[in-house]
Amino acid sequence: MGTDECVFCAIAQGEAEASLVYEDDTVLAFMDLQPVTPGHLLVVPRGHAIGLEDLDEEVGVKIWQVAHQLGRALRRSSLRCEGVNLFLADGEAAFQEVFHVHLHVFPRFAGDDFRLDAEWRVREREELDTTATAVRKGLSELVGQ
Ligand SMILES: [Zn+2]
Repeated sequence: MGTDECVFCAIAQGEAEASLVYEDDTVLAFMDLQPVTPGHLLVVPRGHAIGLEDLDEEVGVKIWQVAHQLGRALRRSSLRCEGVNLFLADGEAAFQEVFHVHLHVFPRFAGDDFRLDAEWRVREREELDTTATAVRKGLSELVGQ
């Protein structure tokens, strides 16, 4: 999908409707159309980036900064908010549905409907060390990029 058909680019350019909460030159934040709880926000960069791979690091810092403030704002709002989740889906396998990077910020409370289903079993140290080696190799490939 090019930027021409990107719904978040359209929102950033004021060409599509959104319930805006925050905007500056780099990022904007608006209400998710399908909130998991009332107060569910999306923080998106103004410029098109698909995901972590093509997102500028400085813009990533700005996204986090705004999400941090919004998480704190939710706790001070009149909305039910006993906790906050920040959630970023990078890639289809990670449940990314709109391919313009976005960080979800949403209130949590006892008995809400949000679920993350996984096998949270504690793993053996040897397995964790092997996995850490694989990740370090990935990190070393980023050096100089
Ligand atoms: Zn876009």
